[in-house]
Amino acid sequence: AAMRDQSIERTKTVCTYCGVGCSFEVWTKERHILKIEPTHGPANGVSTCIKGKFSWDHINSEERVTTPLIREGDWFRQASWEEALALIARKFTETRRQYGPDALAFIASSKCTNEDSWMMQKLARAVIGTNNMDNCSRYCQSPATMGLWRTVGYGGDSGSITDIEQAGLVIGIGTNTAESHPVLATRVKRSHKLRGQRLIVADLREHEMAQRADLFVQPRPATDFVWLTGVTKYILDEGLEDKAFISQWVNGLDEYRQSIDRYTLAYAEEVTGIPEAALRQIAHEIVQADGTCIMWAMGVTQQCGGSETSTAISNLLLVTGNYMRPGAGSYPLRGHNNVQGASDMGAMPGFVGGYQKVDDPEVRAKFEAKWGVPLPTTKGLDNHEMVHAVHEGTLRVMYLKGEEMAIVDSNVNYVDEAFEKLDFFVVQDMFFTRTAQFADVVLPASPSLEKDGTFTNTERRIQRLYKALEPMGDSKPDWEIIQLVANALGANWNYRHPSEIMEEIASLVPLYAGVTYERLEGFKSLQWPVLPDGSDTPLLFTEGFPFPDGKARLYPAEFVPPVEVSNAEYDLHFNNGRMLEHFHEGNMTFKSPGVSSKVPGTFVEVSPELASERGLESGRFVRLVSRHGAVRVPVVVTSRVQGKQLYMPMNTQDAHQAVNRLTGSHTDLSTHTPAYKDTAVRMEILPEM
Ligand code: SF4
Repeated sequence: AAMRDQSIERTKTVCTYCGVGCSFEVWTKERHILKIEPTHGPANGVSTCIKGKFSWDHINSEERVTTPLIREGDWFRQASWEEALALIARKFTETRRQYGPDALAFIASSKCTNEDSWMMQKLARAVIGTNNMDNCSRYCQSPATMGLWRTVGYGGDSGSITDIEQAGLVIGIGTNTAESHPVLATRVKRSHKLRGQRLIVADLREHEMAQRADLFVQPRPATDFVWLTGVTKYILDEGLEDKAFISQWVNGLDEYRQSIDRYTLAYAEEVTGIPEAALRQIAHEIVQADGTCIMWAMGVTQQCGGSETSTAISNLLLVTGNYMRPGAGSYPLRGHNNVQGASDMGAMPGFVGGYQKVDDPEVRAKFEAKWGVPLPTTKGLDNHEMVHAVHEGTLRVMYLKGEEMAIVDSNVNYVDEAFEKLDFFVVQDMFFTRTAQFADVVLPASPSLEKDGTFTNTERRIQRLYKALEPMGDSKPDWEIIQLVANALGANWNYRHPSEIMEEIASLVPLYAGVTYERLEGFKSLQWPVLPDGSDTPLLFTEGFPFPDGKARLYPAEFVPPVEVSNAEYDLHFNNGRMLEHFHEGNMTFKSPGVSSKVPGTFVEVSPELASERGLESGRFVRLVSRHGAVRVPVVVTSRVQGKQLYMPMNTQDAHQAVNRLTGSHTDLSTHTPAYKDTAVRMEILPEM
């Protein structure tokens, strides 16, 4: 110890990438990041994946934006904070005066802290007076939240990641868990291998979890609802349901039963292509298992019927009594590190913090009493509606932080046109992103290692991150920037530290009532709901469900078929998603040379059958053309995909290769989550170079 370099600092932080929420110590010396050391993470123990361990070079990247930038003609010049804030205040005020508060819209970030998101929605509501407020859970898990609200009342994972380990049976649907939630996947892999846990996977693509599964089924695109409902009906028809659980805890069985009348196993096989025998096996495995957990992700939610399928998953769990105990329940796997938290904080158009409705007068009265201003009374625009409203000319100003909408929103060609139409656009980010190129003002934000705050992971676990480094240049933590903007607009906010923001959150959001920074010190964490005395809720449903009579509800649901069915012109199904090494648009991970040298760019996976039919080999470039745009990418021939299905990772640094050049503007009917996975394309083979 005497030899140890005393100038090395060890600071606890939480991973900035996926929703697993791994926590670890980061070792720094001056601005150098020496090592990531996982020690006591409640979600990860001593594990991390390649991103959490090695992808931190973005922090010291020369590409960081370190001063405010103001557009001048076709490009930007550096500006002082005073000048940038004065310009923003003038433009926001003029727009509000001329067109009303709903001519402005705000987008928070699921990569930012809870405190950052709280400040953004407070700025929108209390300073500007609009509910036009959203975050990127709109792009991923809103349908899962909807399905759970309808049936069990809370839109969160039923238990902890460790509960999934205890299940007798884990079913993964539309989740490439080994690449998208790697550390959570290792726990399932371990239980499966060592404890005899059963694993069933339903996916279009034979990814690692599918290869490991005891049973792997490949439904036709966008048909998960049908096989899930077919299995549920079979269980009910055979009298295999959990009668005691239903009679004590579940309402609506008769109505639900009628609504699923047509979903026989024969019909399910006809629609999904999964053999009846496999569906029967799934039904029997669920009823025989000592607890079933269902994990799902974007393969389910990014469809026109994403909410309906999420509802069907929860219905199946209710019928089989798979709630209210460890090792059972629903596990929608959250994408970004803080996608759960951004929604918890009310960065959504219809809810203030804790899913309290903006159109509920009692809720508004509580917030108005605390904030001392009247609040807007009706639901605002979500991300999807914002883009349309800009095209229609009713939305004129946007303030977006920490999201690369011009790559990750669907139908980016349409999004680009909207950004060009805006009267005034503020982008707050640590990099000069593609989205920032459309901005009028760019504000330099700090990444996770340069700020204090909290993140809430996929299992509702609230964890603290501590500032390991000072903000680079003139950049600032997001909450501080938003406070400056609010005060430039005439507010008088005086938060000195994110802990003071959390005090306000705890006072207004019942789910966070007992959260304090002291209770989250170091590696301590709390899973919401957190009661005022600080007791938390690892297992979400113990004494019933959050409905007036304490009972869950079977929700009648209807199959929503895909919109973009293949035809003669667009004959291939285009699937898309993540890869292990990179995160989203790659603004962070591609800046780590070790990681990006391993996987320098994106590609399209083509099945061996299709490759041989078209005379294709790995490495050959093709042009994929959809009804909405085109991309040029190299081919990887692999049996992970089958038949006429293609798969392309969304992670790219080249905007011309963004998967969302191909996706359309159609969405989940209930939540407006883009139906990214519902896309048909044709493939043109480019001449060899
Ligand atoms: Fe953990 Fe996810 Fe970060 Fe990997 S990306 S270290 S699994 S939180």
